[in-house]
Amino acid sequence: MSDCLFCKIVAKEIPAEIVHETGRTLAFRDVNPQAPTHVLVVPKQHHPDAAALARADDGLADDVLKTAHAVAVHEGVAEGGYRVVFNTGPGAGQTVFHVHAHVLGGRPLTWPPG
Ligand code: 5GP
Ligand code: ZN
Repeated sequence: MSDCLFCKIVAKEIPAEIVHETGRTLAFRDVNPQAPTHVLVVPKQHHPDAAALARADDGLADDVLKTAHAVAVHEGVAEGGYRVVFNTGPGAGQTVFHVHAHVLGGRPLTWPPG
């Protein structure tokens, strides 16, 4: 999608601090971090939200989750605990409509989230 911010990051047309890359996924630091570790994991293929990713039916959701965990391990937050969040839809606070998992960690995370 030519007008999609995260497609442009995937294409390396817009800079981002990339922390992990696989054949089908990319992980980069959130520009406005909400925790010491705040990384976004996207499929390189454009899907607007988690519902569309779930429907992709080709193991892509699996790849995103595996990359999220790999990021947590590399960031050193896997042992202490981390959170993986898909804001899905405007009512849940989704603002960029290229599906992304937020990987958050490095501080105590309260529950329930706001
Ligand atoms: P959402 O609100 O859709 O769940 O999350 C979008 C996230 O993308 C936000 O946490 C926001 O800080 C992040 N973000 C927005 N624009 C950029 C950008 O240009 N680069 C990076 N690295 N993150 C961005
Ligand atoms: Zn996109």
